[in-house]
Amino acid sequence: MKPKEILLNTLLKENRIELSELSAEEIGDEHLFTSIETPMKADAFDLSEDEKMKKIEGHFRQIMETLGLDLSDDSLKGTPERVAKMYVKEIFSGLDPANKPKIALFQNRYQYNQMLVEKDITFYSNCEHHFVPIFGKAHVAYISNGKVIGLSKLNRIVQYFAKRPQVQERFTMQIAKELQEVLQTQDVAVLIDAKHLCVSSRGVQDNNSATVTSFYGGKFEEKAVKDEFLRYLSLKTEY
Ligand SMILES: [Zn+2]
Repeated sequence: MKPKEILLNTLLKENRIELSELSAEEIGDEHLFTSIETPMKADAFDLSEDEKMKKIEGHFRQIMETLGLDLSDDSLKGTPERVAKMYVKEIFSGLDPANKPKIALFQNRYQYNQMLVEKDITFYSNCEHHFVPIFGKAHVAYISNGKVIGLSKLNRIVQYFAKRPQVQERFTMQIAKELQEVLQTQDVAVLIDAKHLCVSSRGVQDNNSATVTSFYGGKFEEKAVKDEFLRYLSLKTEY
């Protein structure tokens, strides 16, 4: 099944029509999203990185001042600049397609046409509804159709999509779709196990919950293949 079809099958699609009727609070706390593509404005890249940082610095200073903070304090005065730099250069750098990892494909010389699983990829992202961290582990797998990519590239694809304001469902789909395109196969699985600070540190204040999202494409939709993937994830290895 293609990512789009999975999306069509989800509750999100059903909710899509009603999304406009929900308040910001309802959308945010239910973590609904509207599309697999990160919603971007047409002029998203008209400003340079430096221009964006200057603007964000000014806006963030205003937020801090509105909260009543004294920006003449030595500890606080550099914060607007630090936040602006962190947003543009680090935690939201994955919004810019120019930062997308360039992936070189290799011929599968070893004829390894079994499942390859890269598990426990640590990632840090941010919830697009509250701008607080989502972090956890991503597990990705594919079955080569003749092409392979370097293991570090699997990690890089995860990190690229993590560095955007995200919703976990979309994050999962974006990784899956990218892997399918790069590897030229439908046989891709992605499982994300994450903690949302917007759930654990505010709102319902549930410290123990984690959110798991998964995508199974092509052969991974077969029960035996899916089970094999999940079995690898539960393997406890000592290093
Ligand atoms: Zn949130």
